[in-house]
Amino acid sequence: MTYNTFLIKYAEIGTKGKNRYKFEDVLCQQIKNHVAHLGTFTVRKEYGRIFLHAESDYDYEDLVKELQKVFGIVGICPIVVEENVTFEAIRDKVVAYVKEVYGEQSKTFKVYARRAKKSFPISSMEMNSELGHYVLEACPNLKVDVHHPDILLNVEVREQVYIYSHVIKGAGGLPVGTNGKAMLLLSGGIDSPVAGYMIAKRGVELEAVYFNAPPYTSERAKQKVVDLARIVSGFSGTIRLHIVNFTDIQLAIYEKCPHEELTIIMRRYMMKIAQEIATKNNCQALITGESIGQVASQTMHSLACTNEVCTMPVFRPCIGMDKQEIVDISEMIETYETSILPYEDCCTIFVAKHPVTKPVLDIIKRSETKLVDVIDDLMQKALETVEVVEAKVSDLEI
Ligand code: ATP
Ligand code: MG
Repeated sequence: MTYNTFLIKYAEIGTKGKNRYKFEDVLCQQIKNHVAHLGTFTVRKEYGRIFLHAESDYDYEDLVKELQKVFGIVGICPIVVEENVTFEAIRDKVVAYVKEVYGEQSKTFKVYARRAKKSFPISSMEMNSELGHYVLEACPNLKVDVHHPDILLNVEVREQVYIYSHVIKGAGGLPVGTNGKAMLLLSGGIDSPVAGYMIAKRGVELEAVYFNAPPYTSERAKQKVVDLARIVSGFSGTIRLHIVNFTDIQLAIYEKCPHEELTIIMRRYMMKIAQEIATKNNCQALITGESIGQVASQTMHSLACTNEVCTMPVFRPCIGMDKQEIVDISEMIETYETSILPYEDCCTIFVAKHPVTKPVLDIIKRSETKLVDVIDDLMQKALETVEVVEAKVSDLEI
């Protein structure tokens, strides 16, 4: 069966009251952005429904895969449209559809007819039994099961008639652009791309910041982060990635502060810089891939010390997740293979042999006073030399 039209189902945005139309408009725009490279499509709203219509040839699998990346969609239904709203036309279309899609299969089904057009002379109940009767006649291998059917045959009578039985699961969440913007601290690891994905899923637009430490980290390590941003942008839309040269700050910390406190102090400066860049770029929050207890810098004490420099909310969607759960998501969103490429990270190069696991804020702050002569200039310089890359999924080299 070839389909030209898809009914797009959304759940949560239906609950937004008076703002509902804004959510729908953003979702329509997101759908358009996602599918533009796959052909010519029109997207329209109709009574709390969104329809996607192909005006050109397209690849079905590619289209469905792309729609599954659009947050806000819960179901993608390939539909058959009958423009002639008469019982006979509906009957013929339904029977032809079932025959073509299910043919000789031995399955159970149930007809679920709805009439938005109340002027239609036959009630939904009558439609169910009448259409069921014709389907049984045409496909002797099918049986009716009104409680747990294998096939739920939807027949919606509106200005036109929509027939469908496949509901392909969508990504869920809310359309990106309906909930502000946040700055993701994106490293080359497994966790932070997942964290970005999870917050984008709640409708939040993303920018990202990466702390680079050349020449201690290579061009390839940076390229890996750009690639991760590109993969995540396949869900979130284009991500402006701010690349900060962090080397001099790390060297200063390394030179002047106790080595067991390096990671915590470094992370505090990362958060401070990320926050400055976030504020300048109209972001309302920071996002990290931290998870309680995963490493020394993510114990409760360490998180509290890191968090102390932040005035903006910091979202840590992986906070209560086990590593395997994070890995599962990274595999699903296809960042995993890139994340495990073995390039060095700025944190691993300047890491202490025995980092503190219960840092005390006052002691950390006292250690930081050793940086007073240099840190303002270094921060300033780091902010002035930020390189910005527009990470788009279309630039990903496969
Ligand atoms: P990830 O897998 O995300 O790299 P991780 O397990 O390696 O996390 P850490 O290195 O402690 O953990 O980093 C914790 C969080 O701090 C990361 O999830 C990320 O949000 C941020 N972060 C760490 N290093 C960098 C970096 N070089 N640039 C930007 N953000 C970073
Ligand atoms: Mg890391």
